[in-house]
Amino acid sequence: MTMIPPGSVIGMLGAGQLGRMTALAAARLGYKVHVFAPEGMDSSCGQVVASHTQAGWHDRRALSRFADDVAVVTLEWENVPTETVEFLSRHVAVHPGAAVLAVAQERLAEKNFANGLGLGTAPFRAVDSVAALKQAVAELGVPAILKSNRMGYDGKGQVRIAADTDLAAAWAALGTDMAVLEGFVDFACEVSVIVARGHDGQMAAYPVVENRHKDGILDTSTVPANVSDDVAAEATRTALALTEALGVIGLLAVEMFVTRDGRVLVNEMAPRPHNSGHWTIEFAETSQFEQLVRAVCGLPLGSTRLRAPCVMTNLIGSDADNWPALVAEPGARLHLYGKGEAKAGRKMGHVTRPA
Ligand code: AMP
Repeated sequence: MTMIPPGSVIGMLGAGQLGRMTALAAARLGYKVHVFAPEGMDSSCGQVVASHTQAGWHDRRALSRFADDVAVVTLEWENVPTETVEFLSRHVAVHPGAAVLAVAQERLAEKNFANGLGLGTAPFRAVDSVAALKQAVAELGVPAILKSNRMGYDGKGQVRIAADTDLAAAWAALGTDMAVLEGFVDFACEVSVIVARGHDGQMAAYPVVENRHKDGILDTSTVPANVSDDVAAEATRTALALTEALGVIGLLAVEMFVTRDGRVLVNEMAPRPHNSGHWTIEFAETSQFEQLVRAVCGLPLGSTRLRAPCVMTNLIGSDADNWPALVAEPGARLHLYGKGEAKAGRKMGHVTRPA
């Protein structure tokens, strides 16, 4: 493919903080960003972009006008309807494409895809009724976690299943017609690897990150991860294998469990910038956001080398009220996402510090 040169307009589907940080990286390289999302101009991403379309995902007239204005389209949210991406793809290149999204939007598809490549996951069963849930619990045992097949994130759409859990109530609480029951993994730690892949198939993996979650939401990401060289190599190999097999153009973030006996199990993947890669803005030679711009525009990928060990901490809800102390703290790099209301559980910003 020919390179899309600086000065061109990159289309962005989704208007959250991931789009915002991508737009800032794109601007540094001289690109403009046009965001398409149901949210208005005052969204986290809308505040920093050159142009903005506020419309629904199925508004074909708005999508056509958007496609005419942009040189390429990428996304910051993997749950953009695949029909939207297919429609846009008839007018303009969309990276990653609908086939990648179809896998990444469903937990069952993700796990089957990983298993199909010979990669491990937590043991799981598809569950579409209370009867199927009872059967799955009998087969996998407890504790287990029931997760909605689609649209789950940050611990939402999940119910922990214990020996005394009322299964009919748990199924009703999830409010879905398709779910997955996962055996509980007594992990030693959780890690993630972000891989960039260009049009030419060239791939670049970032160093392995160690992630701690609080209430199902990412709390800290530490780089490098405190794992053995063998585990780091296996996690990297796993993420590269998934990226290549999916044919991603752009980024793929793969979250994994490391078991106490050193096995690496795939938990989730996201074909977009990822919260566990925010440290790359200051502590990698090329940020994940710049890397996404490079990959979708056909530029050479940048170096993923770690400049220095670091820890990224999310600012969730009222954590962001602490900004006066954080902005005054020597060495701390504060990012605030321009979101108005600090609702509980909402990602308001992050801070990255040398480790
Ligand atoms: P998820 O939305 O699947 O990424 O789940 C959010 C967090 O819940 C994970 O990062 C883990 O900390 C925890 N978790 C999810 N699935 C499992 C599992 N099968 N076993 C143990 N912990 C889990």
